[in-house]
Amino acid sequence: MSLLSVIVPCLNEEESVPLFYDEYLKVDPVLKERGVETEFIFVDDGSTDGTVDAVRALKDKDERVHLVSFSRNFGKESALYAGLQNSRGDLVVFMDADLQDPPSLLPEMLDGIDEGFDSVATRRVNRKGEPPIRSLFARAFYRLMRRISNVEMMDGARDYRLMSRQMVNAILEMSEYNRFTKGIFGWIGFKTKWLEYENVNRVAGETKWSFWKLVRYSIEGITAFSTAPLTISSVVGLFFFAFAFIMIVFIIVRKLIFGDPVSGWPSLVCIILFISGVQFFCTGILGQYLAKTYMEVKNRPIYIKNEKNCF
Ligand code: UDP
Ligand code: MG
Repeated sequence: MSLLSVIVPCLNEEESVPLFYDEYLKVDPVLKERGVETEFIFVDDGSTDGTVDAVRALKDKDERVHLVSFSRNFGKESALYAGLQNSRGDLVVFMDADLQDPPSLLPEMLDGIDEGFDSVATRRVNRKGEPPIRSLFARAFYRLMRRISNVEMMDGARDYRLMSRQMVNAILEMSEYNRFTKGIFGWIGFKTKWLEYENVNRVAGETKWSFWKLVRYSIEGITAFSTAPLTISSVVGLFFFAFAFIMIVFIIVRKLIFGDPVSGWPSLVCIILFISGVQFFCTGILGQYLAKTYMEVKNRPIYIKNEKNCF
């Protein structure tokens, strides 16, 4: 018998939790037949609704249900990490509570592990049911990431992923504060098999991601796995330095040949505005990295448990 830990991050998912559990029970017998026993690790990421009670209700029915509850909302990345820390399984899988990660895919994922892969990941082949503007930015983000970072990142990759213990231990060793799981998976390596499936809409409740939250998340991803923006700002600086040098020579020569008629005030203002804009932009980039470093140096815990809600 091997043990499978199912990690479910939940933020205000009181409606989805029981639906998720019922759906999972449908594949449970199939898994048991293959010698896979399940433990559920729900992670309550500071929900303000009845999520904790919903999980407790499951606990009364099923001994295999566990809950890690946070003192406030720490974000999905922290929830996934907490789940890993509390998992005991030889195999671990991340699944959203909203059933966008269909449990029916699990047997196929287990096949991948049997074939010798260390992890079986999933990606959506389409983004049906998502606002088009969001899909556009998401696609652009993945394209950019592939170019500026050296980690492998799949477009449409979900966090729905089955992993071996050795992979889980590798992730646990990456105890960084700024967590970008999609990048971490790529960074640690190991052999990954990709399964594709059609996008499924969430069963209940609504998405926890606003557009701005996604923008912040993508900045997180870029700063966590690439220093390309710093290089770009250095190159821009170098370009302006060279340009200034040429201009100085040009102006001196012109003065020697034509004298010094005072003119060109508008162009001067434009140049000053433009270059100070570029400067602020580059300082901003620097600031992003400094801020990340600052948070990292503080070495704060990734999450804080609310012990009295954990079981
Ligand atoms: N989630 C979480 N903490 C957060 C945001 C989301 O634990 O700060 C959980 C949420 O409850 C769900 C999963 O992460 O189980 C995915 O969230 P959601 O469905 O809102 O994201 P989407 O599927 O729209 O990308
Ligand atoms: Mg979802």
